[in-house]
Order: sequence, then structure tokens, then C-alpha cells
Amino acid sequence: HTDTYGVKPLIFYSSEMNSGLHDRYLLESDIHRALASKQFHILYQPQIDIASRKIIGAEALLRWHHPTLGIVSPLKFIPLLERTGLIVPVGNWVIQESCRQAKQWLDQIGLPIKVAVNLSVIQFYKSGLLESVKRALDDSGLPPHCLDLEITENIAICHEDATLRIMSHLKNMGLSLSMDDFGTGYSSLAYLQRYPIDLLKIDQSFVRTIESPQSRQADMLRAIIGLGRNLDLEVLAEGIETEQQAELVLQSGCSYGQGYLFSKPIQGNFVSNEILRSVAAS
Ligand code: C2E
Ligand code: MG
Ligand code: MG
Ligand code: MG
Repeated sequence: HTDTYGVKPLIFYSSEMNSGLHDRYLLESDIHRALASKQFHILYQPQIDIASRKIIGAEALLRWHHPTLGIVSPLKFIPLLERTGLIVPVGNWVIQESCRQAKQWLDQIGLPIKVAVNLSVIQFYKSGLLESVKRALDDSGLPPHCLDLEITENIAICHEDATLRIMSHLKNMGLSLSMDDFGTGYSSLAYLQRYPIDLLKIDQSFVRTIESPQSRQADMLRAIIGLGRNLDLEVLAEGIETEQQAELVLQSGCSYGQGYLFSKPIQGNFVSNEILRSVAAS
């Protein structure tokens, strides 16, 4: 196997995929069947207002139950979906299904719970994204302010004008935009004031390494939270696993959190129960 121009594709290639051509093609052909035979499903991880412990939203996380390999991690199959272009139909299905689920939470509970959907860089720049999002909102009847789209810093570094245009169109639909895995990407900080982003999701690596409130890591966390707050952005900390981390995050000025301490990713119909419980408890 050689690349036509001897050039390695920049984003489509991961070293994992190099490990075995046979595996790779096996998985590729499997993906073609996976959508039709309902091997994909979505789990939702609650997002919490740390002080009150109320659920304010939930992130849609894609799962692939492969007939022989079992559950495959999205860290493995998302790059493959991106390389084959199949991220577009699969990603559209995730948007569609997540909106339907969030509308069900709204109908069952009467509270606007946001659903957050991860967007791949490939999906983001593909023409048809705006139409797909609009169709998902129309078909489900979900109010646009209940949809949040998560993008990563790697989106922000490419094609500045196009990026700004697409983001503006999405914002005009009434939904919100989050910057996922913040602090791990390659972009400059300047885009934070240029692009219409509502929420910074601080990467879990900044939360999980913290040993004490006096540590350098804690200083780093406070600095990142302060940066977001000074730019009038909402801030959410990912990967909160302990009460100490929740406490420190809250003390550092970050109101929202997500992580195993509050809940692992769970089935959509279980989220309703969790919401009701969180509302009753506070
Ligand atoms: P992400 O968007 O940063 O999602 C958060 C990941 O952290 C999830 O992993 C979640 O299960 C995990 N997590 C949450 N709380 C904790 C915690 O307290 N401790 C630890 N150790 N981990 C925690 P998951 O579900 O394996 O997803 C991995 C990545 O795959 C996601 O990272 C996202 O980038 C991507 N992904 C998942 N679903 C989709 C999708 O539908 N579309 C796209 N484009 N990417 C997706
Ligand atoms: Mg995410
Ligand atoms: Mg993240
Ligand atoms: Mg991540």
C-alpha cells in the first residue's frame, strides 16, 4: 500500500490503523453494515451543576457493539469513520437520535435538558451539516437551545473564514457551541475571542492530575478557568472522579462538571430518572 503522491494524509491517519491492513479492511467493511444492522448505539453522560448537583445536560457518546469484537472504543473507530468518510452519515444519525432523545426528556420532565453532540472536524466542514442539524431539530421538535455542539481546537485552527461562517450559521439557529478537550489542542488562544463559543470544556487531563489545591496543576486549572470566565464563557470541567476534585473545580470558579463521580455514560431512558432524582434531592 503506497500513498498516490507519497504524502501522508494529515488527519485521516493514526498509527493504530497501521498495525494491520487486514484488521483495517475488516473493520471498514464492518462499518458499512453496522449502521443498517443497528450495531451503533448512544450512551449519555450527565453534565452537572456542581453546587446543586442538578443535571443540566448530557453528552451523547457513541458506542459500537461489533458482532465478534464486542464493544469497540470510539477512540478506535472514530478515526476509522473519519478516514472512510462514514463519519458523515454516522454523525448525522447521532445528531438526529440525540435530538429525539432530548425531546423525550423535555416531554417527560418539562425541564430543558441540553444534549451535547460531538462533531468531527470532517463533519464540520462537510457541506450539508447545517441542513442536517436543521432537519434533526425540525424532525424531533427539540427547541434549538437544548442542543449543544462540541467541537475541538483542531477545528478552530483550519480555514478561519469558513470556520467563522459555519459557526455563525449554527449560532443563528439558536443552539450553543462548546470547545471540547480545551487545553490539549494546537490552536492559539486568539480564536477564543474570535469565534462564537459559549462553553469551554476543560480537558480531563487538567482535572485528574491534581493532587492538592497548592499544586502547580491546581494553579494551571485555576488559570484556565479564569481565562474562560474573563472571556464571559461558561466553563465545565471534564473527568471529575472524586469529591476533592469537584470541590477544587468549584472553588476555582467553574460551576459545571462531568465525570464518573456524578455518573458514567448511561442509556438515554435512564437519564430521565437521574434528572428527576437530582431535582428532588436539591
Ligand atoms: P470526549 O468528547 O472528550 O468525551 C469524554 C470522554 O471521557 C468519554 O469517553 C467519557 O466516557 C470519558 N469520561 C467521562 N467521565 C470520565 C471520568 O470521570 N474519567 C475518565 N477516565 N473518563 C471519563 P468515550 O465515550 O470513550 O469517548 C471518547 C471520545 O470519542 C470522546 O471524547 C469524543 O472525542 C469521541 N466521540 C464519542 N462519541 C462521538 C460521536 O458521536 N462523534 C464524534 N465525532 N466523536 C465522538
Ligand atoms: Mg465531547
Ligand atoms: Mg472532552
Ligand atoms: Mg477527549
